[in-house]
Amino acid sequence: MLGIDLDRADGGFNEDLRIVATPAARGLAQLVLRTDISGMPLEWIDYRESARLYHQEQVAYTCGSLLYKLYGGMNARTGRRTVLEVNSIVATIGHTGNPGNTRHDYVPPLNNQTLFRRDAYICMYCGMRFAARELSRDHIRPFSQKGTDVWTNVVAACRRCNNQKASRTPEQAKMQLIAVPFTPTYAEYIFLKGRRVLADQMEYLLAHFPRSSPLHARIQHWLS
Ligand SMILES: [Zn+2]
Repeated sequence: MLGIDLDRADGGFNEDLRIVATPAARGLAQLVLRTDISGMPLEWIDYRESARLYHQEQVAYTCGSLLYKLYGGMNARTGRRTVLEVNSIVATIGHTGNPGNTRHDYVPPLNNQTLFRRDAYICMYCGMRFAARELSRDHIRPFSQKGTDVWTNVVAACRRCNNQKASRTPEQAKMQLIAVPFTPTYAEYIFLKGRRVLADQMEYLLAHFPRSSPLHARIQHWLS
């Protein structure tokens, strides 16, 4: 058991506790990918939550790169300072409240951030790439024609294309979609939610995407 007082760790520094971020972490905000014991991605957690899982002996094994070293107080028995190393991917024995990774019919919540990332910030009509603030959520079949707000009926669209299409279907507006919209799997959704996904975390998540996932190609595009 590691003698670390996590509440006192909040500021990053303390007289008997020190947190050191490795160059890979580039600061304390880098999130850790938590998986279940079989390696299925579960969620993003911060270094404090990771340390808590270690402390509760929930960590089965780790992968990826070293992100943080947490130096705790002196161990009374050994007279040594305790050190906890937090990696970019931790497999845990505990569960989370989210059943997403075990249910095949799981549908992740829809929001613009993950939608635009699904579509790689490309307008699905003109094929141009935009900043998130220049994109909008287009309903392929509009609400006025019984369209719904679901992953398979929405795409990222630039303002110009969205205005041009207006309350019409692509056929009615004589516009063509450049890719078929899809509902992300749980692993894909975890990836889309990631604020800053490290190369090893991305590689790990990619291995859990369906082989047919359009994200394989889009991520290559993204990296280019
Ligand atoms: Zn466009």
